[in-house]
Amino acid sequence: MHIAFAASECVPFAKTGGLADVVGALPPELARLGHQVTVYLPLYASVHPYLISPWKYAVRSITIPFESYNRFVGIVDGGQRNGVQYYFIDCPELFDRKELYGTKTGDYPDNAERFGLYCRAVLEATKQLGVPQVFHVHDWQAALIPVFLRTVYYLDPVLGNAGVVLTIHNAGYQGLFPPITTQRLLFPWEIFTMDRVEQYDNFNFLKGGVVYSDMLTTVSRKYAQEIQTPEFGEKLDDVLRKRAGDLRGILNGVDYSRWDPATDGNLAAHYSADNLAGKAGCRTDLLHAFGLETVKEFTPVIGIVSRFATQKGFDLVEKIAPQLVERDVAVVALGTGEPNYESFFREWAFRHPGQVAVQIRYDDALAHKIEAGSDIFLMPSRYEPCGLNQIYSLKYGAVPVVRATGGLDDTIEEWNAEKGTGTGFKFEDYTPEGLLTAIDHALAVYEDKKSWKKLMLNGMARNYSWEQPAREYAEVYEEVARRRA
Ligand code: ADP
Repeated sequence: MHIAFAASECVPFAKTGGLADVVGALPPELARLGHQVTVYLPLYASVHPYLISPWKYAVRSITIPFESYNRFVGIVDGGQRNGVQYYFIDCPELFDRKELYGTKTGDYPDNAERFGLYCRAVLEATKQLGVPQVFHVHDWQAALIPVFLRTVYYLDPVLGNAGVVLTIHNAGYQGLFPPITTQRLLFPWEIFTMDRVEQYDNFNFLKGGVVYSDMLTTVSRKYAQEIQTPEFGEKLDDVLRKRAGDLRGILNGVDYSRWDPATDGNLAAHYSADNLAGKAGCRTDLLHAFGLETVKEFTPVIGIVSRFATQKGFDLVEKIAPQLVERDVAVVALGTGEPNYESFFREWAFRHPGQVAVQIRYDDALAHKIEAGSDIFLMPSRYEPCGLNQIYSLKYGAVPVVRATGGLDDTIEEWNAEKGTGTGFKFEDYTPEGLLTAIDHALAVYEDKKSWKKLMLNGMARNYSWEQPAREYAEVYEEVARRRA
């Protein structure tokens, strides 16, 4: 089957979060299963020319009409990697920017035009480069593809029968724009109603995708349930409940060719479940990177790698920060994001030199070092569609302490001392006490070296490779293709 992926991020070309990891890893796995896979991405400034060599256009110019002007985009042939064909939508005036979605001061004001153009360009490109049986579109940035397909492209003789699967990686980001967007992107005003793309007087890209796609998926079974409730649905729960029969939860895999301490090129030493010796060297290297060389040998190191967003639960960490530093622990944190959380971490580190350290930046190599050098990995998320870091942590023997939500709940099994089973520690209630109790439980088990080793090894034995999820996605594509036939 031919599947065309449309997404705004994909490693190694452009990344702000887990979406990029998924779009980087799933297509090659589908190709291994024998499918033809094409990936369409915006050509951002971050797409380094050496990744696309030789540079050539597959299509020189496609006309994308807007209300009172046209834009002209090229399709750059990114070549094949791991059996997958990559194409880039070249529109320098919209995509040749340093950031993907906006700067510190806010989102780019023309994001509706940028991703509206992107969606239309993908459809037009496939008409020249190969119409897939199924479009697999990701998050709000690609969610207008089904809306175009089932409205203004409805009568197109080559596109008309293609199926669409929308994956929601995070319902908290929906692409909300003023009503006039309808007209600017040349949609008929009839679609601007509450049962289609309107959401309380906004044009909602993600809602359009939910309404017009053949099937929907999200990135864990628990999150598929959660988003149908008012607490987690971000005001889309009613429309998601209407589509419940077409919604599947498929847990993300991880790319063990990039995230395995036995082979990870970012680490000072290698280790595996069979031989853990190298983990001590990774710990020393990590403490050096954070200027925490004086931390004692048996003091547990708590690691954090995250976007600093409200979703991630750092308001709880802020509330327990004074108590946490009274315990015998060291904390290393890597992240960027909302200024209030950046300030909290900076101040916390400033007040507790030698025990707490933070680096406010994005650094992939350092993220790997934190997984390897930490004893405990902290993810107290308010909600977490899947979460990748806790799955990496399992493999790296950094025991996760997580809130029991979404993919965190699906991937982490609570430690059971009697049976010696489980992989980490979870808390249900989103409260500072809940978090501190879970951390204290972890610290108590850490004291017992034998139990702790068992806990680490249980996690390291878990396998979250892409093979199984890729098969589940293939079933969804087949179901969509059957329905459209
Ligand atoms: P989300 O997609 O919500 O940000 P995930 O856990 O699904 O959360 O994925 C986050 C990904 O981004 C992981 O691969 C993680 O290592 C990476 N990441 C997040 N922040 C940073 C950072 N500051 N430096 C390096 N990698 C980061």
